[in-house]
Amino acid sequence: MPDFAITTAEVSKRFGAVLAVDGVSLSVRRGEIYALLGLNGAGKTTLIRMLLGMIRPTAGSARVLGVTVGDDRSIWSKVGYLVESPAAYPELTVRENLEIIRRLRRLPDPRAVDDVMERLSLTPHVRAGTLSMGNAQRLALAKALIHRPDLLILDEPVNGLDPAGVVEIRTMLLELRDQGVTVFLSSHILAEVARLATRIGIIHRGRLREEFDAADLDSRVRRRLMVATRDNDKARAILAAEGFETIDPLDPPHHLDPALDPALAPAHDRREELALPATVPPDQVATVLVHAGCPPTRLATEEEDLETYFLRAVGAHHDAAS
Ligand code: ATP
Repeated sequence: MPDFAITTAEVSKRFGAVLAVDGVSLSVRRGEIYALLGLNGAGKTTLIRMLLGMIRPTAGSARVLGVTVGDDRSIWSKVGYLVESPAAYPELTVRENLEIIRRLRRLPDPRAVDDVMERLSLTPHVRAGTLSMGNAQRLALAKALIHRPDLLILDEPVNGLDPAGVVEIRTMLLELRDQGVTVFLSSHILAEVARLATRIGIIHRGRLREEFDAADLDSRVRRRLMVATRDNDKARAILAAEGFETIDPLDPPHHLDPALDPALAPAHDRREELALPATVPPDQVATVLVHAGCPPTRLATEEEDLETYFLRAVGAHHDAAS
């Protein structure tokens, strides 16, 4: 059995003037939850559609479960997928919808339907058209899981779900991973991905910008020691005299203009604070400032939020400025 559930080699897709996916080489190990993270229009859906053989790459190739996509149709019996909005026959019940998928997939055992409904806590006799968004998504996942695939490929699986629905899907995907299922999913929400994924790939404008283990995210996020005093100019000079050089408190800039969304504003106006590298010990800073008669009114280590990290990773600050 190959070690990788998915590999792509310099895969690209052009739609007229738009290079939607641009030379992406990634690999997904078996048993991993790999999250492809990107803003709207980054190329996530296009890449997933190529992995599933729905569209053909303009250049490069992809392998799924050891087989070059397009070469051998038998692999699809081991792959479950959910791409774009979940579509079900609205007039038919949950059970009837799943029964159709069972027959399309040529699964001989009719119990497969009951089995998957139970696993996803779906009520059999409800008409699909009346399902809440969360339950409609669960039905879509049931269709993707009915044949107990080894690999699950999901495009934005938590899109449009309420917080309880998000937690439910997350729990379910973690359970599947524990059962040995490999999950490849796309998302534009880093906070969600950070809770779920074992590996993260960041795609921007069709290119894979970064790939790293989710466990390393913590060490990639920037931290700073923020200091406020009654006279920051004086404090800056005192600290500099002791060898503690301050850095620009607005780097990286907050990603959204607080005037546009006050809820996203930092708790403190960073321009009114001094910033030091997070490696500087806070107790030493406090001691120096107190002895010089300029005691801190606030001293806190601040961590870049995940969204800011993501936007920094894709260079969106730079894009916005240019
Ligand atoms: P979203 O979450 O908004 O779907 P995405 O990351 O999945 O974003 P894609 O849907 O892959 O992004 O789109 C990538 C780029 O390719 C976009 O600029 C999009 O407009 C373009 N694109 C996608 N499909 C087509 C198509 N069939 N014809 C023309 N352009 C397309």
